[in-house]
Amino acid sequence: MRPSFMTPAHKTPYLAELVCSNSFKGDDPSTAHGLLKKEMGQLNSLVLKIADQTKVPAGKALAVDRDLFARQITKEIESLPLISIIREEVHEIDPNIPTIIATGPLTSDSLVQNLQNLTNGNNLFFYDAIAPIIDAESIDMDKAFFGSRWAPESADYLNCPMTKQEYYAFVDALLAADEVSPHEFEAKNFFEACLPIEVIAKRGRDSLAFGPMRPIGFIDPKTGTRPFAIVQLRKENLKGDAYNMVGFQTRLTYSSQEKVFRMIPGLESANFLHLGSIHRNTFLDSPRVLNNDLSLIGYPNIKLAGQITGVEGYMESAAMGIIAGIAMLVHLKNLSFDSPPPTTAIGALINYITDSTLKKFQPMNINFGIMESPDVPKHLRKKVLLERENLDFSKWIDSLSSSDE
Ligand SMILES: Cc1cc2nc3c(=O)[nH]c(=O)nc-3n(C[C@H](O)[C@H](O)[C@H](O)COP(=O)(O)OP(=O)(O)OC[C@H]3O[C@@H](n4cnc5c(N)ncnc54)[C@H](O)[C@@H]3O)c2cc1C
Repeated sequence: MRPSFMTPAHKTPYLAELVCSNSFKGDDPSTAHGLLKKEMGQLNSLVLKIADQTKVPAGKALAVDRDLFARQITKEIESLPLISIIREEVHEIDPNIPTIIATGPLTSDSLVQNLQNLTNGNNLFFYDAIAPIIDAESIDMDKAFFGSRWAPESADYLNCPMTKQEYYAFVDALLAADEVSPHEFEAKNFFEACLPIEVIAKRGRDSLAFGPMRPIGFIDPKTGTRPFAIVQLRKENLKGDAYNMVGFQTRLTYSSQEKVFRMIPGLESANFLHLGSIHRNTFLDSPRVLNNDLSLIGYPNIKLAGQITGVEGYMESAAMGIIAGIAMLVHLKNLSFDSPPPTTAIGALINYITDSTLKKFQPMNINFGIMESPDVPKHLRKKVLLERENLDFSKWIDSLSSSDE
């Protein structure tokens, strides 16, 4: 719809405009971000091809000249004879016409309204309020203990107890930490979404101890007493290999989060699979409304792609575009579509966004925590995971080519 109708963040008429950072993160294939890029490369990703042509030096990260990148992508797409670009705001989707919706985190209001109707009203969200997610293996179990409020036998939560001194040192560090300032268009009604932990702390040094960190109902089995404050960690998935910090949505910078949250007893060596953030983001409650071919449940002609599916980040969004494209082709040929297996990076993302056991859905970047962990000793895990990914992704590509024949 740009440039005739702009979003609050975009500034140019180009396709694939990068609205914030010019980095696509690391491309080492032994990391989760690198693995995702490797798979996108195997699927001939245009985004990756142009990123490679327009890259700028950025150490181990893949970063691009943002202006050149968006211009090149626009030029390539404009040159394709089967594509017509119509620069208009779309207000309504006709479920009879095969359509891929990729209108992103700043989808315009009229289309939001239409999507709400298609998804029965309340399956669309407008803000991410993400609390940090921690790799379970990096939590010090000599300090943390299981138990819910008033239910010490429950294994649903892990709790990190704090003494009075630890609590006040933590609050002081929180109050001194650097914050990311919201974009102008995010300021309005921003805090209605979910109060950031540092905002609660600013209301009084004890406010967290009476709020999300209240210790009531807990006895630390190691001391037999009630801690002064507590940080609760909730299982992020059924496997229990990742935990989120309950009520810890935050706008602290990533480096401050790592520094301050590692002051919590039990989290000194925490490996953060995802750090916290709060920002404007339109996304679907995909576990409730999306099939794993990225079609809307009940509307096989309508597929979703990009960040609106509940993935987060430039590359993750582009990867969902490739899959929506393949899935649409398969649908139009009346064939059945199998998404890549959850042992692969793209498959793990699809599995995550369509996992109906997730009760409180929050967008996610690619990370090893959402990929099925191989059942082998810890020191072999990454090696086996990478080998298995390689094999499974190649097999999936082969299955696509054979169904095409
Ligand atoms: C302020 C902000 C900062 C971000 N910073 C980063 C970052 O640093 N790193 C990162 O990895 N990700 C970042 N993201 C997320 C990133 O923007 C997305 O991951 C990525 O751009 C999503 O791609 P997309 O194609 O889904 O959506 P977009 O790139 O937003 O593309 C969607 C397009 O749809 C158009 N559109 C919207 N509504 C309609 C309509 N009704 N009719 C027609 N067209 C419409 C929009 O104009 C836009 O061009 C940021 C997002 C925002 C909002």
